[in-house]
Amino acid sequence: RFIALEGGEGTGKSTQARLLADALAALGHSVTVTREPGGTEGAEAIRALLLAPPGRGWGPRAEALLFAAARSDHVEKLIRPALDAGQWVVCDRFLDSSRAYQGGAGGLGDDTIMVLHDIGSGGLLPDMTVLIDVAPDTVTMRLAARDKGVADAIGGRGGEYHANVAHAFRRFAAAAPGRFVTVDGEGTPEEVHHRILAALALLPDN
Ligand code: C5P
Repeated sequence: RFIALEGGEGTGKSTQARLLADALAALGHSVTVTREPGGTEGAEAIRALLLAPPGRGWGPRAEALLFAAARSDHVEKLIRPALDAGQWVVCDRFLDSSRAYQGGAGGLGDDTIMVLHDIGSGGLLPDMTVLIDVAPDTVTMRLAARDKGVADAIGGRGGEYHANVAHAFRRFAAAAPGRFVTVDGEGTPEEVHHRILAALALLPDN
């Protein structure tokens, strides 16, 4: 089974991906935990290009193509083989990040992103996508505490861009309830983890 975790910066995706992978392993599953952009040597090389763009930065189309190329390598070399081998795959960001950032906030539109995804990754969709939803004020506080200095690693995109990203994620989740669960990301990592296990029906039923 293929589970993606989605949300904006500072929503806790990476922490939750690790906790979820550990919980699945404890249930006896074989698990691959990975992230986007990145996850394979080639995709990590593209990640470095995305996060430190040369010259005056990437235009929105080049950026979308780079994300699609990174995902293509990631799917072909890591995700597909793991799924074919019967493993669970937990991925920190996947297609819906491209839809929300490049397609929604970046203005390229959903159809363009889906065409790139079909070409690059054969249209692979997660079995379930967990959207971690956190209030903007919480995100601001978490990012300040994190010393990421880079609320936004990619080229100084402002608060309005990120508000549009959050809005797009909510829209996708509402439009495809069979493929998304939305989880409240406020509170401690353990609390959010518990909500994710419940949403994925992975808690022991007692
Ligand atoms: O999730 P993570 O923080 O590792 O993402 C790295 C950067 O890439 C972030 O600044 C995020 O905003 C950006 N990103 C993006 N479009 C995507 C995925 C991530 O702009 N499709």
